[in-house]
Amino acid sequence: MTGPQNDFARTSANVLLVGGGHAHVAVLADWTRRGIPKGARAVLLTPEPTLRYSGMVPGWLAGQHGIGDGLVDLAALAVRAGVELVLDRCRALDPEARVVTTAEGREVAFGIASFDTGGVGRGAALLGKDPRIVEVRPIGAFVERLAGLRASRQGLARVVIAGGGAGGVELAFGLRNLAGAEPRPVVTLATGTVGLLPGFADSVRRRVAKALARQGIALVEADAAFERGTLVAGGQSLEPVDLVIAATGSAAPGWVRASGIATDAGGFLSVDAHHRSPSHPHIFAAGDVAARTDRPLAHAGVHAVFAGPVLAANLRQALAGEAPQAAYYPRWNNLYLINTGDGSAILSYGPLSAQGSWVLALKHAIDKAWIAKYAALARGA
Ligand SMILES: Cc1cc2nc3c(=O)[nH]c(=O)nc-3n(C[C@H](O)[C@H](O)[C@H](O)COP(=O)(O)OP(=O)(O)OC[C@H]3O[C@@H](n4cnc5c(N)ncnc54)[C@H](O)[C@@H]3O)c2cc1C
Repeated sequence: MTGPQNDFARTSANVLLVGGGHAHVAVLADWTRRGIPKGARAVLLTPEPTLRYSGMVPGWLAGQHGIGDGLVDLAALAVRAGVELVLDRCRALDPEARVVTTAEGREVAFGIASFDTGGVGRGAALLGKDPRIVEVRPIGAFVERLAGLRASRQGLARVVIAGGGAGGVELAFGLRNLAGAEPRPVVTLATGTVGLLPGFADSVRRRVAKALARQGIALVEADAAFERGTLVAGGQSLEPVDLVIAATGSAAPGWVRASGIATDAGGFLSVDAHHRSPSHPHIFAAGDVAARTDRPLAHAGVHAVFAGPVLAANLRQALAGEAPQAAYYPRWNNLYLINTGDGSAILSYGPLSAQGSWVLALKHAIDKAWIAKYAALARGA
């Protein structure tokens, strides 16, 4: 493992993985099981030695998981996979010269590169600047900040969550049921004018709205924004507020568009069904940093997870000098299990919905199995 303290100014790799995200862990798993294609030198460039699984964060808030649960050990996986780990972050990409420049000024030259860095928060852009705003991305920094506030028992009495997608909804439930907090935080969920859970079935929305009301979480279906230091939504003040959590979706990191590689209108890295750049075929991407050119694909962990094995197969073929064959086509419906923080959860699968403690048990089983799979690989089991 090398870190910023290391003075190598230049590294080179046949294959460079940028970001230890939900798709790249599947690539590391493939290389661990089957080996890296012969002779290839592989580097993983990512700022943290672990990946935090966001799906378990609301459960951590509600006291269902410890802070150490829900982590994938990227450093151990890299060792098992025979990959050099560089703990640093991508700051710039030159797709023609095939060089990534890191925040610490190192240059990493590559033959083939794959990007799975996730998106960046856009709370300040949407809400305006205020010291009480905390971005949920990057999720590791979010957990550290919340852990600090919990330990000091300060700054969590009155919380507004901005963003009515599944992440924002789960965080509202998690904070309302914050383990060890007495009294429980007063929580408001401001969804924006798009409303609660856009894209979900009406039956799911109804169940979630009922659960919010039952738990005393205020629902404001209007855009929240700071006006002269006051948080307002729909013409009403949401003050007093101690903390504003921006769960307002991913923005593209600025270095993607700045690189000159093909992007969509939002600046996300364009990829085809093989997760390959149409402008630079030696570059691949998956997860929230990528945008499919052939279909809209929500920025959700489930797509990063399912695209991972496809990416692994295509990187293997590209390294062998072959055209990538594997394609990721999302299922018609994906299973979402929304933790309501009170020992129950709401299931969403296309038009179907269900609710109960058994849904939460199913969620815990699926989440823990995903983490356990990588823990076993990292141990060499
Ligand atoms: C509270 C919450 C709950 C959620 N629950 C769900 C859910 O149940 N189901 C679901 O489908 N989605 C869920 N999501 C969305 C999900 O978290 C994201 O869609 C998912 O994490 C995206 O995965 P990714 O691989 O693109 O990026 P990430 O998981 O964010 O991983 C990115 C990796 O890249 C690294 N990195 C970042 N910047 C750089 C850089 N410049 N250079 C190098 N490395 C970098 C990071 O350290 C990290 O290791 C939830 C989100 C939140 C906030």
